[in-house]
This record gives sequence, structure tokens and C-alpha cells, in this order.
Amino acid sequence: MYFSKNHSGEHTTKKKVMIPGDYICGAEELMPGKGAYSQNDEVYSAVCGVETSEGKDATVSSRKHIKKIGPGDEVYAVVNSVSETKALLTIIPIESGKGERYVYSDFAAVKVQDISDHYVKSVKDEFRPGDIIKAKVISTRNGVDVSTKLSPKYGVVKAFCSYCRKQLVLKSRRLMCTVCERSERRKLSEDYPSEGESNGNQNA
Ligand SMILES: [Zn+2]
Repeated sequence: MYFSKNHSGEHTTKKKVMIPGDYICGAEELMPGKGAYSQNDEVYSAVCGVETSEGKDATVSSRKHIKKIGPGDEVYAVVNSVSETKALLTIIPIESGKGERYVYSDFAAVKVQDISDHYVKSVKDEFRPGDIIKAKVISTRNGVDVSTKLSPKYGVVKAFCSYCRKQLVLKSRRLMCTVCERSERRKLSEDYPSEGESNGNQNA
């Protein structure tokens, strides 16, 4: 376990958020305690909660502030892969100001028709693997589906050059790689940081 100091100077434990079935450790390391079970010589979490293993016991305590992802939630996600019709994403767990955490969910997807209000021919024209996007969850019925067309704040918030992987910078509304000196396009979020706007042109 790792200890760190929070803003008020108290010692807090960096805890791992778990969902049922998450691997905790091998059965030879710890015995399954509260909120855990063993199977095939391995110990797994039986609940949604925070790992609180201590001594010889593997334990997970359920916390009410752990929130499941549902329709309407805003999420950040990494783009894993893109095809013509959809992008597969991994949702990044975040903590909101109220101390809520989104439980890590393996995969989410954004379909080509949910990217933009404008017609998008291929997802590859707007997202690239490695991009970080901000999106809204629209359905959790058949996996997690997200959309980036409901607000200008949704879209790519961090993008990387397709050739050299350097982070692209937004200059005069163009997404540029400063190494390759080429531009790329994305469905950008209005939150994408803009560089070189020294004339105070940015909206306050
Ligand atoms: Zn580049």
C-alpha cells in the first residue's frame, strides 16, 4: 500500500477501486476476507468497493460514494481502436469534487453516428488510437455507449501525432504536430488546450 498526504496534511491510503470479479491476489498471499472470495487459488473481489486488505486478509469494503456509470454521466476515455463504424474505448476512472468515483469499466464504444452533428463518414476521420476523449454515456444496456455530439465540450481533449506520437497542439484552430510540421483533424472538444493565442483572443 502507498501512503500520500492530501491537501489538509492527513495521511491517506491510495486505494484501488474494485468491481465484482476483479483479481486481488493469489490465494497463497492472502485469505479471502469480507467482500472477497477465492476461486482456482486466486482471490477476487465480491463487491464494488475499495480494497482494504490488511494482515492476512484480502478485504474489499463497499462504499456508497462509488458510483456506477449510467446514462447521462460524463466520462473521459482512451481510444483503443477505431474502425469505420465505431471506436472502442477504455473509460478512465475519475473522482468528482464530491469524492465520487466512477468504477472502472473495461470497455465503452462510440458509434459513427454519435460523434458529431455533422455527417461523419468514418470514425477514423475524427478519432485516433491513443486520443483522450470526453463524452457522455447514452446507454449501458449492451455495453457502455457514449456520444460526443451533445455539447461542444465533448470530443477529443488530448490527441497524439499519428506518425511520431507527440501530443498535438492547437494553433490558430489547427491541430499541429510541432515535430512533423503537419496538421491532423479530430472531433475536438472546446476544452482542447489552445497554444500561441498571445493576443488575448481566448474566451474568458
Ligand atoms: Zn509528429
